[in-house]
Amino acid sequence: MTLYLIMMGVQGSGKGTQAGIIRDAYNLVHISTGDLFRALKHREDEFAKKIQAIMASGQLVSDEDTNELLRQHLESIDLKNGVILDGYPRTTAQAEWLETYLQSKGQKLTAVIALELDPYIAFKRSFGRLIHPQDSTKAWNIYYNTDGLEYEWVKSDGNLFPPRLSGKTSETGEALTRRPDDASADAVLKRIDTYLATTAPLVAYYQSKGILTTINADRPIEAVTAEMKSVIDG
Ligand code: AMP
Repeated sequence: MTLYLIMMGVQGSGKGTQAGIIRDAYNLVHISTGDLFRALKHREDEFAKKIQAIMASGQLVSDEDTNELLRQHLESIDLKNGVILDGYPRTTAQAEWLETYLQSKGQKLTAVIALELDPYIAFKRSFGRLIHPQDSTKAWNIYYNTDGLEYEWVKSDGNLFPPRLSGKTSETGEALTRRPDDASADAVLKRIDTYLATTAPLVAYYQSKGILTTINADRPIEAVTAEMKSVIDG
């Protein structure tokens, strides 16, 4: 049987990390519609240009274009043991399309997993993150993970602007960096707000179908993975 998993989770919930672990553990294909859209940046045709403009504006691509891109992708790749969908569906119309599509293939969703995290913790996980410039898997956080981290809030000349976060590793003194979208408190909040506003209807949708499992993401990575596996293994 082919596994079809949907992962939902706010920015900072560890969704990307968990998707990677589950993909490897079950030999699945990880499909992120955001990545599929970003890959269009190498194309010059009208469709690709239209998508780029929509993405740059921060809006959602239309359901029709998103579903079609996903359909083409699903039909062009080796699905291995199944698929883990990340960033899709984002609307109820997409969820309904997916259900009909899978039915037409004699398949159905295995599970929908929502990683739940308090919005303020989600904010701190992104805003407080400092990463190694050469290896983004090495990350520290001023709120949660300060072992081996030295950081300070650097005042601006004349104290005209709010202080900026600066950090380095205690071991080698290497300067750490922040992702540009983490460094702007406003941008972090906006992404969290959008997620909460757009996924709430989907949570209700999958709850009503009885296939949604909510997992508390405010725990160590291994604990979250273990619970995800027990959901998938049924
Ligand atoms: P992401 O990397 O998932 O944050 O997606 C980046 C951008 O791609 C989004 O801001 C949307 O413009 C577009 N996108 C990705 N997935 C979808 C989707 N399921 N429905 C509509 N637009 C999407």
